[in-house]
Formats: sequence, C-alpha cells, structure tokens
Amino acid sequence: MILLKSPRELALMRQGGHILADVMALLRTSVQAGMTTQEIDEEVEAFIRKRGATPAFKGYRGFPATVCTSINEEVVHGIPSPHRRIKEGDIIGLDLGCIVEGYYADCALTLAIGEVPPRVQQLLDVTREGLELAIDECWPARRLSNVSHAVQRHVEAQGFGVVRAFVGHGIGRELHEDPQVPNFGDPGRGPQLKPGMVLAIEPMVTMGSWEVRILEDRWTAVTVDGSLAAHFEHTIAVTEHGPEVLTSKTGRSGRRAT
Ligand code: MG
Repeated sequence: MILLKSPRELALMRQGGHILADVMALLRTSVQAGMTTQEIDEEVEAFIRKRGATPAFKGYRGFPATVCTSINEEVVHGIPSPHRRIKEGDIIGLDLGCIVEGYYADCALTLAIGEVPPRVQQLLDVTREGLELAIDECWPARRLSNVSHAVQRHVEAQGFGVVRAFVGHGIGRELHEDPQVPNFGDPGRGPQLKPGMVLAIEPMVTMGSWEVRILEDRWTAVTVDGSLAAHFEHTIAVTEHGPEVLTSKTGRSGRRAT
C-alpha cells in the first residue's frame, strides 16, 4: 500500500532531506585520495548527529555504518573500513540517509577522485541525468513506470547497463515503503502518481553488464563483469505543482538546482 504524506510529514522529511543536501555538499569538497572510507563515515555520522538527526542506515538490518561506501566495481552497500583507502582515479558511491522525528530521507551520489577517463566521467553524468529525467516524470496522474522508463531509456541509449537487482522505493516512516521503483521497464504501467507520494529514486548504472553479485561480507554488491558502477539518489515528493526534491535545498535537482 502506498502511504500518502501530510504537509506536516512532508515538512519533517524536508528537514531531513536538507540535512542530507548539506552532507552531500560537504562530501563533494572533503572526500579526497588518501582518506579511508571509515574516515568518511565518521565525518558524516558526526555531521548528522550535530544537526539533531539520526543516521538511517546504522543498525538497519545489521548494517554497521552510517554511509554505504562503494568503490569502482562495487555497486552499492559497501561497508566503510579503516583499511580501505581511496585512491586517485577511483570513483566512489556514497549512499546515506537520516531520520528526523521518525521520518526518513535517503540520498546518494558518486564522486570521481581526481582525474578519470572521459567515459568514466560520462558514466557519472549519464547516471545523474537519468535520475533528473526520472524526477521530471514525478507529476500527479502520470504512471509510476514512466519514472522507471525514463532512466532506462537514457542510460541504455548511451551504452551503459541498468542494474536490475536493486530498485528505488517509497519512503516515509519506513526507509523502504511501497511502491518499488525499478530503473527499467515499459512506460504507462503501475499506479498513478498522486500528491503526497514520496519516492526515493536511485539509478545504479554500470559500464558493462547489469548483473551483480554479493560479496562474502553479505552486503557489498559488485558487478559480475568487474565493470565500474555509479549510483545517484534523491528523495522526491510528488506535489500538485510537480516534483519537489526533498534532498535539495532548492527543491530541485542537478542542472536546475544551480
Ligand atoms: Mg534508497
């Protein structure tokens, strides 16, 4: 069942979302070669707690950290470690959420560390663009699978692969609510979007095959073919006036946010 959020509930999720927007801005400037993934995790946890929110992932189904840190062929759910140091030329996906008065917000971004080849930068750009095109579909009366299709069409047209094993989701009092939001599928299907729906849309895109496997730590998902993967995510409210990106201070994403 898809739960619609009241203005009061949306205000709390916006509060959490804006904390996450500030975290993402911090990460864009602070993450650099030589840091360990645990240092990133500690910095983000301290930031979220200082703002009076609670990290959403720590302890969630036993996940041990605040941020999922996924480097290169790792797609999602990498576990921060004091032994994992970021190197020049890596790409790193950072996925995190927070809770404000019982309400969740969720976001992710992928950063290139120093110089990366043009095709790798394109992987990041196309994944982010896919997310933005999906957000553009979040208007009342449109169908949910239009969101999914927007990602797949853009990503595959550029020769990249869309991960199937993980999908976006509704979000609110739970981190994962109905509906599931795949990043693939034909348009014109699924429920109609309504004001008050809140979706975490999160394309995961690879430079090769879409197939993934889980490592022995039982969390980290990697591409089966070892190709690089990128991940971007926003929490979006459907409103009468179109999409509001709760995890952006302007309510809008990417190119339209600046
Ligand atoms: Mg999510």
